[in-house]
Amino acid sequence: MSFSDQVGNQKVVAALRGAMAENRLPHALLFAGPEGVGKRTLALTLAKALNCSRADGDACGRCRSCSKTDREEHPDVLSLRPSTAQIKVGEIRELNAAIQYRPFEGRRRIFLIDPADAMNEQAQNALLKTLEEPPADAFLILLSERPNLLLPTVRSRCQRFTFSPLAQADVVQLLKPKLTKSEEEIELLARLSQGRVGVALDLDLADYSRVREECLGLLAALAEPLKVKGLLDLAAAWGRLLEREAMLERLRILKSLLADLARLAIVHDRAVFTHEDIADRLRAMSTGWTIQRVYRFSARLDSIERALQRNVNRQLALEYAGLTLDE
Ligand SMILES: [Zn+2]
Repeated sequence: MSFSDQVGNQKVVAALRGAMAENRLPHALLFAGPEGVGKRTLALTLAKALNCSRADGDACGRCRSCSKTDREEHPDVLSLRPSTAQIKVGEIRELNAAIQYRPFEGRRRIFLIDPADAMNEQAQNALLKTLEEPPADAFLILLSERPNLLLPTVRSRCQRFTFSPLAQADVVQLLKPKLTKSEEEIELLARLSQGRVGVALDLDLADYSRVREECLGLLAALAEPLKVKGLLDLAAAWGRLLEREAMLERLRILKSLLADLARLAIVHDRAVFTHEDIADRLRAMSTGWTIQRVYRFSARLDSIERALQRNVNRQLALEYAGLTLDE
């Protein structure tokens, strides 16, 4: 992948290329944006361009340096990823020491911290001095889906580049050469991923449909105020989910279903549906979902999502969100 092959987030690409061309690329960069929209791909493209033997401001993708970076074997392109749930201070101290050395074989050294929000507070504090005065031939790229979890002192020392989800057509274009699936399935994957290529590539349609059925069950139970049993059963089942990520996935799917219900309530236009494949079912369900209820429930799901960071009791939180929806 080179800058010119990059699909989507063209403003970020242009800003990086422009800065490189004028030799004013910041040494501490923060790539912020949702999962699967190309932050890591672009960080690696930038790393390649900085060391490419053609040295023409882009990555040729073919020279020894570019190929090594693609295989993640370049000794001057280091990617710090959490070995446990967190990136700890010891790992950052090692990075601080390593960054002082000259490049092994390239012209520059590039350090990726992915995801940067995995650094605990102590680790983030340990990085401050390096962010402030990185060596002239070193670049630090912090990647994060949740930059609000970074200390303000870390954020203020980085130049921020904000990534957005890709357009449906761009996702389809990127998926086609990578997947052996029917046109229809690729269109569906692109839509369900909501502009996140990385998510679309990993999305298992069968799995997704199963989880989405659970979410639809919850919305159906809430569409009729007296059918609370469905809500309580699901809340209990979701309370037992082991992975926080599994709960987050359900919250995300629920919110995307609610967004479709909101579209139905406002524009009655199925062309913009995320869940195009079940539009008829959503339409049937929509009578129980006024726009006020959609927004109110969506806001409650947001607060559950925030509370998950504090290990909230998921079952109670979901029951409360559902049972008090019409109060
Ligand atoms: Zn090259």
